[in-house]
Amino acid sequence: MAIEFGERIRRIPSYPLAAGYDLGEDMAMLASNESCFGPKSEVIEAAQRALSGVHRYPDPSYATLRGALSERYGIAWERIALGNGSCDILLSAGEALLEPGAEVVYAWPAFSVYPHLAAASGARGIEVPLDAEDCHDLDAMATELTVATRLVLICNPNNPTSTALPLEAVAEFMSHVPRHVCVILDEAYIEFSLAVGDTYASVDLLRRWPNLVLLRTFSKAYGLAGLRVGYALCGSEEFRAAVDQVRQPFYLNMAAQAAAVEALRHQDEVERRVVHAVAARAELTEGMRGLGVWVAESDANFVWAHLPEGVEEAEVIDGLAARGVLVRAGGALGRDGSLRVTIGTDAENGRFLGALRDLL
Ligand code: PMP
Repeated sequence: MAIEFGERIRRIPSYPLAAGYDLGEDMAMLASNESCFGPKSEVIEAAQRALSGVHRYPDPSYATLRGALSERYGIAWERIALGNGSCDILLSAGEALLEPGAEVVYAWPAFSVYPHLAAASGARGIEVPLDAEDCHDLDAMATELTVATRLVLICNPNNPTSTALPLEAVAEFMSHVPRHVCVILDEAYIEFSLAVGDTYASVDLLRRWPNLVLLRTFSKAYGLAGLRVGYALCGSEEFRAAVDQVRQPFYLNMAAQAAAVEALRHQDEVERRVVHAVAARAELTEGMRGLGVWVAESDANFVWAHLPEGVEEAEVIDGLAARGVLVRAGGALGRDGSLRVTIGTDAENGRFLGALRDLL
C-alpha cells in the first residue's frame, strides 16, 4: 500500500529545477541567476575558520550577521530576519500569514516559489498578469486587494522577466494597502537595479510602512548561492518574530554566517560584479535584438526574451545545450516561447550569442 500524505502534497507545485549540475566542465551555466565569479579568498577563509567550531550549534541569535546588517542598513536587529536562503524566509512567511480563506496577491510570471505559498497553506493565490512590457501592473494588483488579502508579493526586479519598477511606484501602491496586510518586496536582484538606484533607497520606505518587508539574498550579487543565506529588513518586529516562530531554531549554519559577514566587508567586489553585469546585459540585449528576438529592459543579472513567432522553445533550449550553454526555458517559468539567460563571463555570453545565432 502506498504511503498516505497530507492533502497539500497534491496541491504544491514542484519547483522547476534547472538541469542537474553533473554536465561536465565545459558548460556555460546560465540557468540559475548565480554570480559567474567565485568568492574572494577572504570569504572562503572566513567560512573555513568557522568550520573548526562546528561541534557546537550556531549562535541562535545570529548576532554577528544580524549586527553587521543592522549597522549597514540602520535597522534594529529585532527587525532583521535571517534564513537558509531568502526562500526560507518566504516560505516561513507563507506559513505564518496564510491559511484557508486568506488570499495572497502576486504578479505572474514572477518567482516560481510564489504559487507554493498558497498551495501549501490552502489560501487562494491571486495571479495578476504582467503588462505588455513584462513589468508588474501595480494598478491591477491594487484592484485585487480584498478583505481576505493577507499578503502581497512584489518582485523587484522581477524574476523571470528582469524588469524593475521605480520605488515611487511601490510607494504609491503601498498607499492603497491596508496596514494589516503584509507586503513583501522581493529584492533578490536589487544590487543590479538602476531603476531603484541603490540598496538603501527602499530601506527608507520601512519608516513609513511597518507592514512592508524587504526580502534580500547573498545568493546573487554577493555570490554565495551555495551557502544559502537570505535576510529580510522588516518594517516591524512582529514579522521577524512570526517567521522565527514557525521555523526550526537553527536555520543558518556557521560557515554560511561567517562567509556572509566577510562578504559584506567587500563591497568593492559586489560593485565589480554589478558593473560587469550591467555592461554585459546591455551587450546581450543588443546582440539578441539584432537576431530578431524581443528582449525585456533588464535591471537584473539576467535577460528575458520572447522567441520569434514559429520558433520552438524546446528546440532552442536543446540546441543551446548541445552547444554547451544551459539556460532556462520560459515555459517552466510561466510563459511559453521565452528564454531566461543569466549573465555569465564575457566568454560564456559570447558562446551563448553565437549558439543562438546558429539556431535562429
Ligand atoms: N527571490 C527571487 C526573486 C529569486 O529569483 C530567488 C532565487 N532564484 C530567491 C528569491 C531565492 O533566493 P535564495 O533562496 O537563494 O536567497
